[in-house]
Amino acid sequence: MFFDSLECVRCQTALAVDLVDDGGLVVLDAATATTCERRRTWGCNWPARPGEALCASCVLVDDGGHAAAPSMIPYQSAQRRALYQLSELGVAWGTDHGPGSALHFAYRSKSAGDQAIIGHRGGEITLDLDEADPARREEIRATLGEHYRTPLGHIRHELGHVVWLDLVATEPALLEDFRAVFGDERDDYGAALDRHYARLDDATWRTAHVSFYASAHPWEDFAESWAQLMHVHDVVETGASWGVVEAPVDPTDAKAWLTDSILASVAANELARAMGMRDLYPFALSAGVRTKVEFCWRLVHLPAN
Ligand SMILES: [Zn+2]
Ligand SMILES: [Zn+2]
Repeated sequence: MFFDSLECVRCQTALAVDLVDDGGLVVLDAATATTCERRRTWGCNWPARPGEALCASCVLVDDGGHAAAPSMIPYQSAQRRALYQLSELGVAWGTDHGPGSALHFAYRSKSAGDQAIIGHRGGEITLDLDEADPARREEIRATLGEHYRTPLGHIRHELGHVVWLDLVATEPALLEDFRAVFGDERDDYGAALDRHYARLDDATWRTAHVSFYASAHPWEDFAESWAQLMHVHDVVETGASWGVVEAPVDPTDAKAWLTDSILASVAANELARAMGMRDLYPFALSAGVRTKVEFCWRLVHLPAN
């Protein structure tokens, strides 16, 4: 089965997957588990929380009246994947976890007339359902000159803002280290974004930032670097489980993850090119960017292999 599977690919037994405390997954027989109420509508394969109708992921969703929209399905898949990865990384989230208690996801649709500015505010992540449409998403990506734009990428980036609030802003010593690496986030955010959108991309950001947008403000720089940590971790872990690379012996060794990600991502990109597709991992991390991703690695707690 795969992470999103609703049934066994061989015997068609209906399945659910549940997260366990050490960051692992267990597979349940859906006939005996209490499945999430959104199984049919959103293809959710997680079990309902004890005594409740929804799973730990769906309970965090404010669907904005779009519960029946097909565009919810890819977004919910991406949300479950990102939340499971946070558990693997030892980052608390969800209604049972202290500082992450405010986390929720508001799904809006510009084409349906909603205000749908993608972003984060105090634990609330707003996403634009219209970007579930590949044509719409590609149009925005090409217009902004971005190399990568996906629902999963949006969620990982916005989770970066939540992680910053929960884990960096609350620790004075860490906040000082953050400022030394990323700059001073007390710089006026609105004015910084206005300046960013008035600028042309002259590629000078590459030595210190993972993307043009990351150079707008230290908060965006951190969110982009955090998203990169999640990309690197998932690409290496997935590559390791398929024998492309070996996972780092010491999971706290950020440099080893970053080095492994080069081989894993070259393999992934070559596989994509073998099928005439765009690169799966269209990033090249400069030394300056690696320093920032390494800072993000200080916030995660991966179990030893
Ligand atoms: Zn669910
Ligand atoms: Zn952001």
